Amino acid sequence: MNDASPDALVIGSGPSALAIATALCKEGVKVHGLSNKEPNEPWPYTYGIWGKEVDELGMEHLLEHRWRNTVSYFGEGSNQKNSQHNNATEHNIEYGLFNKIKLQEYWLNQCEEYNLVWHKGHAKDALVGDKHTTIKTREGFTLKARLVIDASGYDPVFIKNKSEGDIAIQTCYGVVGKFNSPPVESGQFVLMDYRCNHLSNKEREEPPTFLYAMDMGGGSYFLEETSLGLSPPVELETLRKRLSMRLKSRGLEITDLEHEELGIYLPMNMPLPNMNQGIFGFGGAASMVHPASGYMFGGLLRRAPGVAKIIADKMNNLEATPHEISKAAWNELWPAEMVRKQALYKFGLEKLMRFSEDQLRDFFKGFFTLPTEQWYGFLTNKLDVNELIKAMVKMFIIATWNVRWGLMIMKGREFNLLWNFLKRY
Ligand SMILES: Cc1cc2nc3c(=O)[nH]c(=O)nc-3n(C[C@H](O)[C@H](O)[C@H](O)COP(=O)(O)OP(=O)(O)OC[C@H]3O[C@@H](n4cnc5c(N)ncnc54)[C@H](O)[C@@H]3O)c2cc1C
Repeated sequence: MNDASPDALVIGSGPSALAIATALCKEGVKVHGLSNKEPNEPWPYTYGIWGKEVDELGMEHLLEHRWRNTVSYFGEGSNQKNSQHNNATEHNIEYGLFNKIKLQEYWLNQCEEYNLVWHKGHAKDALVGDKHTTIKTREGFTLKARLVIDASGYDPVFIKNKSEGDIAIQTCYGVVGKFNSPPVESGQFVLMDYRCNHLSNKEREEPPTFLYAMDMGGGSYFLEETSLGLSPPVELETLRKRLSMRLKSRGLEITDLEHEELGIYLPMNMPLPNMNQGIFGFGGAASMVHPASGYMFGGLLRRAPGVAKIIADKMNNLEATPHEISKAAWNELWPAEMVRKQALYKFGLEKLMRFSEDQLRDFFKGFFTLPTEQWYGFLTNKLDVNELIKAMVKMFIIATWNVRWGLMIMKGREFNLLWNFLKRY
C-alpha cells in the first residue's frame, strides 16, 4: 500500500465518526476521514446524556446545561379519572445537554493533533480485497485503507443487516422559545410528561405521545412532543397539533420562537448488522442506538476506545486481511452478551409499542419506582443480561394489573423476538 493510504478510513463526520476516529488515532492508527459535509459543519440535533455517565467519562466540561431537578409526570393510575395529576416522579439523577459545538471541536482538535486527513465526497461503492478496501466516491475519486469504518448514520452507505420487519420509529416535534409563562419549573428537566387531560377520549385511543421539556436558561425553554417508537411512526403534524393542545390547555403561548425542530426520525430497533462483512460499522450505522431509550452517546463514548484497541491490535499483524480486522472489530462491538441484551430490549420495546396510553403511563410510573441502579442501568445499557432479567421480573411484580396483562399477552412478532432472546440465552 502506498504511504499516502491510511490504515483506517472513517466514513462520516457525525458523533460516531469523530468518536471512533479519535479513539483510533490515540491507538496509533493512521486515519483518514471521508464525509459528504465539512467536518466542522454544526450537527443538527441537541444531544442529552445522564450526568453520571458523562462524569464517569471525564467529559462533564463539554456540557452546556446540567439539571439537578429531573422529573417525569405520569398522571394518576389508569383507574383514576384525573390524568393531569401534578405529582412528579423525581429521578434524583442529574441530566445534561452537550454543548455540541464544543464537543465537535474537542474531537476535531484531537483529529488535527494526530494529522487525520479529511476528504470531502460521498462514498458510493466499496470493494473489499485481501489487502485493502477501495472506496469509490460519487465525485469520482477513490480511496484505499486496510479497514473502512462506515459511520454514515441510520441509513448506512455500506453496512448490511438482515431485515426483521417493520422498524419502530421515534418521531418528535420540538420548539425552543420564550413563553407567556414558564412551561416547566425554573431549572427543571422533564424526561417524560405523559399527562394527557388535554386529549379527548377518542384522541387518547390514538398512539400516545409525551412531552420532553427543559428550562434552557435566559427565559428560554425547549419543548418536544415525542412518540416513543412506532411503526408506522406518528406524523409530524399530529405531534405539532398535540404540542399546541398541550400548551393551550395549560394557558401557555409561545411569545418568541427561537428554533423549531422538524421532521425528526429516529429508528429504535434496527436489526443487528451482518457481522461477516469486511467493512466495519460504528454508531447509527451499526445499530448501536439503545432500543429502549433511543440514546447512543453513552454507548458511543464508552465503547469507542475498546473497539479502537482491538482494531489497532489486529492491524499490528501485517498479514491480517480487511475481513479479519473487521471480524475482530464486530466481535468486540457486538459480543454474545450485547446481542442477548439487544434481543431482550427489542422484545420489551415491541410490548410497549402495543400499550395503550393508560398502560404506558402505569408502566413508566412503575418503572421509575425500581431501585435507581435498575432503571438507570436499564436505560444506559449498563446491566448484564441477568441483571436485566431481574429488573424486568421485578417490573412485572410491581406492575399494575393492566400492565401485567399487557406484558403477558403475546401478539405479532413478540413470540419471535422472545425466541430470539431465549435461543441465545
Ligand atoms: C433528533 C434526534 C435526537 C437525538 N438525541 C439524542 C440524545 O439526546 N442523546 C443520545 O445519546 N442520542 C440521541 N440521538 C441518537 C444518536 O446519538 C444520533 O442520531 C447521532 O447523531 C448518531 O450519530 P452518527 O454519527 O451515527 O450518525 P449521524 O449523526 O447521522 O452522522 C452521519 C454522518 O455521515 C455522513 N454521511 C452520510 N452518508 C455519507 C456518504 N455516502 N459519504 C460520506 N459521508 C456520509 C453525514 O454527513 C454525517 O456526517 C438522537 C437522534 C435524533 C435523530
